[in-house]
Order: sequence, then structure tokens, then C-alpha cells
Amino acid sequence: MPGQLIDGKSVAAAVREQVRGRADAFAARHGRPPGLEVVLVGDDAASQVYVRNKERASGKVGIRSNVHHLPADTTAGRLGELLTRLDADPLVDGILLQMPLPGQLDPDAMLSQIRAGKDVDGLTNESVARLVCDQPGLRPCTPLGCMRLLAEAGCDPQGKHAVIVGRSKLVGKPLAHLLLQRNATVTVAHSRTKSLADVVQQGDIVVAAAGRAGLVRGAWIKPGAVVIDVGINRDAEGRLRGDVDFEAARERASWITPVPGGVGPMTIAMLLSNTVDAANARLGH
Ligand code: NDP
Repeated sequence: MPGQLIDGKSVAAAVREQVRGRADAFAARHGRPPGLEVVLVGDDAASQVYVRNKERASGKVGIRSNVHHLPADTTAGRLGELLTRLDADPLVDGILLQMPLPGQLDPDAMLSQIRAGKDVDGLTNESVARLVCDQPGLRPCTPLGCMRLLAEAGCDPQGKHAVIVGRSKLVGKPLAHLLLQRNATVTVAHSRTKSLADVVQQGDIVVAAAGRAGLVRGAWIKPGAVVIDVGINRDAEGRLRGDVDFEAARERASWITPVPGGVGPMTIAMLLSNTVDAANARLGH
């Protein structure tokens, strides 16, 4: 029997509904909605779409959002000034610096101007340290979304072998820590991993986050595994494809996320959730 679909669209809708209730409760207590400031530097077309989507999604759940669009030749000093001002502003609960930045701006140096309490993307070094040291804090949105989808599939990571393909700072590495915190045994594979098929075959949980269409073959999936596909790739016809050979993998998996409609919708939903978490953590429930 083919594996069941984990429907990211409906899970994300449920998360947004919860966020709306929590944002309304925050507004009733504090006389203002939670506030998210999004900083976009330059004219990257994809980034502009992402920022617009985040702004629209915020408004729909009762989060006030504000976009600062700076020119591509913005200096480190100018961007640092803006981030420092937003960080000090008591009406700002969350700050998101849209990546990638133009070449003259060092992402780590720029992110370090945002303190962990407002880092709704969970990407600053302080937030990473908190995650690695098992301290409370805001976690990166896509890995959080993956954890939520596992829960939706009724999958408790404790004692399971989780294989993550991809070791980026954005997805693979933080997800490895979230799974370790939930007592999974975690293997992180990457482009230098030998015998990827053998490694993936050990996974009770397989998360593909490599950005390579169809990299994970169906025959590699251990029967009954839960498969989360983070990859977003476009094929020659312009259709979205994941990193997993979906149809073949579904024959062996117990649960599997589709692309599109799996992890994708979760990322913004978890950003909204982080924003309300940040607001509540600063001002109290
Ligand atoms: P990166 O390019 O930063 O990282 C890719 C990782 O995959 C690297 O660690 C790389 O290894 C590894 N990798 C690449 N090729 C192979 C291979 N052939 N075998 C094994 N490992 C390989 O990508 P991101 O983590 O930012 O994103 C990964 C994918 O997830 C992309 O498709 C991206 O579009 C998607 N994505 C989706 C999101 C969503 O909301 N659904 C959000 C974020 C990303 P090495 O380190 O050795 O180079």
C-alpha cells in the first residue's frame, strides 16, 4: 500500500489559525499586534516574492509587518544602523533579514546586529549557539516545519534513526539538532558522503534537503520510513520537483511529503509562529 501523504498545506493552515488566535490575544493584552520588520537589500527577484508572501501572510494572521527595501549598493554601516535601530525599538518583536545579501555585505556580521530574542529566522550565531546548547530560543523556520510535519505523521523521533541529506546552516544542521533533542539517532549526509544509498537505507526518518531533483531514489527508502522532502527544484518544463523520487519512494514509505504542498507552506507558517513566540517572550503572556 502506498504511503500516506503528509499534507503541508492543511498543517500550515492549522498553524496559521493557531497563530491568529495567539496574535489576537497578544493584541488584546498589549494594545497592539505583534510586529515583524522585514529587511530586503537589493533586487533579487525571488527574494522580492518571498518578502511579499511573508508580508501578506503576516497581515492575514494579525501580525503587523513592515518591509524596509534598501538599494543593492547599501553599505554595511547603513544596514547595521537600521538593524540596530530596529533591535532597540520596543514596538518591534521580530526582525528578518532576507537572504541572500549583495556581495559587499557579510551575512554573519549583519545578522549579529539582531539579538536572539528578535531573531525570528533563528539564524544568528547567538540563536545557533542556543540551539546547539539546548537552551530555549527561536529556531530556524524550515527545520521547525519539518518537525511539525513529523508530528503530524504521528512520528516520535525518539530511538529512531534519522538520516538528513544536506548539511546547510539553514536546514540540515539545525534540523539535526532538533532531532537530537527529540532523542533520534542522527546521520547527516552531504556531497562527500560515500554510498549515499546505503546511508539513506538506514533511515526510519529520511529528510532530503540537498537541492538536487530526484536525488533520493525510491529503492533507497527503508520500508515504513517517514520521508520529508525539503527540496525545491524546477524541471525542464518549469514544474516543481523535490529531492526525492516521489512515486517510487511512496511505494515504500509509511508517510511522505509531496512537492509542492509539503514542507514549502510550513516555512512561512513557522515564521509567523516564531514572531508571536518572540513577542510573548519579550512582553509576557
Ligand atoms: P544548500 O545548497 O545550502 O545545501 C545543500 C546541501 O546538500 C549541502 O550540504 C550539500 O553538501 C548537500 N548536497 C548537494 N548535493 C548532494 C548530493 N549529490 N549528495 C548528497 N548531498 C548533497 O541548500 P539549502 O539547505 O539551502 O536547501 C536545500 C534544498 O531545500 C533546496 O532545494 C532549497 O530550495 C530547499 N529549501 C526549501 C525550503 C522550503 O521552505 N521548503 C526552505 C529552504 C530550502 P555539501 O555541504 O557537501 O556541499
